Amino acid sequence: MATVYRDGNLDLLSGRVAVLGYGSQGHAHALNLRDSGVDVEVGLREGSPSWAPAEEAGLTVRTVSEAVRGAQLVAVLLPDHVQKGVYERDVAPNLEPDAAVLFAHGFNVHFGQIRPEPGHDVIMVAPKGPGHRVRQLFEAGAGTPGLVAVAQDASGGAFDLALAYGAAIGCGRAGMLETTFAEETESDLFGEQAVLCGGVCALMQAGFETLVDAGYQPEIAYYECINELKLIVDLIYEGGFTHMRDSISDVAEYGDLTRGPVVVDEHVRTTMKRLLEDIRNGSFARELIAEEEDGRPRLTALRRMAARHPVESVGAELRELAGREGLLGAEAHVRS
Ligand code: NAD
Ligand code: MG
Repeated sequence: MATVYRDGNLDLLSGRVAVLGYGSQGHAHALNLRDSGVDVEVGLREGSPSWAPAEEAGLTVRTVSEAVRGAQLVAVLLPDHVQKGVYERDVAPNLEPDAAVLFAHGFNVHFGQIRPEPGHDVIMVAPKGPGHRVRQLFEAGAGTPGLVAVAQDASGGAFDLALAYGAAIGCGRAGMLETTFAEETESDLFGEQAVLCGGVCALMQAGFETLVDAGYQPEIAYYECINELKLIVDLIYEGGFTHMRDSISDVAEYGDLTRGPVVVDEHVRTTMKRLLEDIRNGSFARELIAEEEDGRPRLTALRRMAARHPVESVGAELRELAGREGLLGAEAHVRS
């Protein structure tokens, strides 16, 4: 069992913290840090639409360069694909010689896109939840679990600094697990590719297409292969696979246990290992970085194609029906 840390020494955050970005994570970190008594400033682009909401929340907002100057710790909570550019242009030239740099995801540091000078602590606090939950749970007196890691320990106290930051944003209340930039980055990419986003969406779509191609009504196929997934996942979230299987019929359970491994067979496991290998040897990262440099041609085309797939219109139609007649109930509002 991994060691769980529940506390941090907030005295270690006696200097100013610059939170760069006021999006999903940025707003939650900035507000939670402030409510924990930490001196915070938000760093944004000139003209950023986030400028007004951050000021309305009572925070001091400055440009990225200004916020970085004089800060003890700089939390880089910008979209991952812009971090390298902003770091090189606005962060590095203004960073105090002993300032710490913090990330909420390890991609840029692990794959060598951002390499802070040796004098800086480089740490990670990655809440395991979307930013609005990080804020919501904190306000309710609870917290979001978090991963903490150190990539560069210049001060000798980098890990304790990460724990302090994690505690200040509420992760200590739910528990902080120690990891490495490599483990967090590789497992995160693998999870979203093979299971959470890529695997699950492709599985749902293939199930939908199989039924529709065999002549079943698209609405029925959508309900069976896509909409109902939320009910199953909610049960798994609540109490694990066994709890979910207690709640479904014996017929469903028999089909689950005998047919699941037929769908996800050795071939799928071999493919999963290949995806993991591409992540670990850096080839996925190189592909992604090149795609970004080219202006995202593939992502744009794939997005456009996905939006035109019949699942989207069938889903929209069913959600509208649910709104009018309550056919699908609350579970229809997955896309809130
Ligand atoms: P986001 O897209 O929600 O917010 C980005 C913020 O950066 C916005 O305020 C935007 O205005 C600002 N911004 C964008 N471009 C900028 C630029 N060029 N210069 C200055 N500011 C700019 O981002 P996010 O989802 O909060 O992600 C931030 C980090 O947190 C990423 O490293 C991400 O991997 C990580 N993370 C996100 C989540 C999540 O649930 N969203 C969870 C864990 C970790
Ligand atoms: Mg992720």
